[in-house]
Amino acid sequence: MTQETKKTVCMFCSMGCGLLVSTERGNPIEIEYDIGNPINKGSVCARGNYMFELLGHPSRLEWPRIRTDEGLARTGFEDAIKFIAGELREIKKKHGGDSIGIIMEPNSLNEEIFLGYHLAKEALKTKNFAPAFTPEDRSMLMAQDELILKGEKEASVDDVTKSDSLFIVGDIVTKAPCLSKEINKVKYGGKGNKVIVVDPKKSHTSWFATSHLQVSPGEEAMVLAGAIKALLDSKGKKATALGRKFKGFDLKKISERTGVSKSEIVRAAHDFDASKKGTIVVCSNFAKTQDAGLIIKLAKILCSVAKGDKRVLSFYSGGNSLGSYLTLSALTGGKTYPDHMEILEAARKGKVKALVTFGVDISRHVPSEVFSEIREKTKLIVACDIFENFGTSVSNAVLAGASYAEKEGTVVSSGCVTQEIIPALSPYSGSVTYFEALKSILEGLGGKSVTFADAKEDVKTRLKKSKKKSKENLAPVFKALKALKAVKASDEKPFILLSDDDIVHYGEGSISEKCFWAKENSKEPYIEVSKADSSSLGIKDGDIIEVSASKESSYLKAKISDNVPCGVVSAPHNFEEARRLFDIKVDPKAHKVSLGPETVSIKPEG
Ligand code: SF4
Repeated sequence: MTQETKKTVCMFCSMGCGLLVSTERGNPIEIEYDIGNPINKGSVCARGNYMFELLGHPSRLEWPRIRTDEGLARTGFEDAIKFIAGELREIKKKHGGDSIGIIMEPNSLNEEIFLGYHLAKEALKTKNFAPAFTPEDRSMLMAQDELILKGEKEASVDDVTKSDSLFIVGDIVTKAPCLSKEINKVKYGGKGNKVIVVDPKKSHTSWFATSHLQVSPGEEAMVLAGAIKALLDSKGKKATALGRKFKGFDLKKISERTGVSKSEIVRAAHDFDASKKGTIVVCSNFAKTQDAGLIIKLAKILCSVAKGDKRVLSFYSGGNSLGSYLTLSALTGGKTYPDHMEILEAARKGKVKALVTFGVDISRHVPSEVFSEIREKTKLIVACDIFENFGTSVSNAVLAGASYAEKEGTVVSSGCVTQEIIPALSPYSGSVTYFEALKSILEGLGGKSVTFADAKEDVKTRLKKSKKKSKENLAPVFKALKALKAVKASDEKPFILLSDDDIVHYGEGSISEKCFWAKENSKEPYIEVSKADSSSLGIKDGDIIEVSASKESSYLKAKISDNVPCGVVSAPHNFEEARRLFDIKVDPKAHKVSLGPETVSIKPEG
């Protein structure tokens, strides 16, 4: 049989790099970058490469299973659907539609989100449908809609390449490694080009910086506010509406608070202003910034104050976080919907009796004792997933899900670029796409069948119609800026703990931990401690450190590092032991989630 090569898109970050998957007799034999893809134009990072290893990974789920007295037993797809639909019907009849929650991974394709919402709304009549956006993605996604400035232009990766100045907030090179090529083009592409990086740590991105503003943890928004103030003052715009709003901002005080000197803030603002074309790149980093959404809004304001062609480009953790968000916004008409953490909280309280998840291991989203409560209170947990995990092992029914290389549909990458995905492979073994699983459950419940073509057309029409409407409301920006409290260490908790991405990992680590590369290079959680702090506390490289935050404690291996300043420690959120140290706050009224750096105490074990 001849070899075949088909295109797909990498979903391990929102850059959305094009990949080519070659197969022989239906088996994957090679993965290559797609030089014709307008986004990556011939780059693929190591994370993109390890998709190859995951396609036929031994821990992939192969067949549907239903729980019996002897545990989970293999069954046929139709029998599994009959069981799931029957149980959902019973629960709905007894407890009402809202007693059922559907949670989908944000990397689901747009058409899958469409059908998940349709199943929830039309057949189950539940309000409890949510993509499991990461908290850092969620606040940035919402900010896109909450402040739209007149004349604002969407930035793309191409805008980054053509820029002569970049203002980067966060560690984008770790999040989207392929962007490093474009950043290099800016740095070396023209005399005087600037790459300004705002990050409390020395990071993969700060190595590219012409100017690294090493801000105090959680103060990135204040640096942007300072840059806006500096430009407003220098342009004689103090008397304008915006100038008056910034009247109370004092650059000296901002400098003291952020740890970035006044001259560095002013120089960064003027360098950005002086460039003909500039892009502010905002990266969603878990618990590094305090309010990632506020950073997006301030970045938009800075672009509107600076002269020339200035735009904002945001990068998300999930490859289709933006597409899932936009599709759901278009379906709900922009109305708010619950966060998946609210649905899980309702399950913990016994209000939600059945959870149906797609690509979401809920045991990774809540502490283990909360997960135990959820298991006790719910009557049914259904997990459709690509890999075996703890969530699937305790479910009542399991469906084997197809990977994105085996699916058809659309995604929206950073810069609002819609990309089509065609199946590069047939679904693995007895696995099905989420669309197929959702469609079968819908039909099993007696709902009207939806074809993939109908879903695709509906999504396309809705996304076109729901183009941004002009709304400029600066009041919430200033309210949020005023509410932003500096993260201060105390005698009891003398260190500020940041989170960071480990470059070999993706998301909460459940997928990347299966890969050879991650197992070799970053198999366990760690905490970076500065040389000065480690020497004053008697900590050596590799020592086990007890880290105590306000709610949780963890034991992490010490990594003595130059990357963190004195008084700051950092742990990658891709490990549960590190994630649990951060307090994720859910505001059910505003349907908002917030998290930021934590104050902690650290000491060697024993
Ligand atoms: S930069 Fe992002 S989208 Fe591109 S290959 Fe790497 S992980 Fe995938």
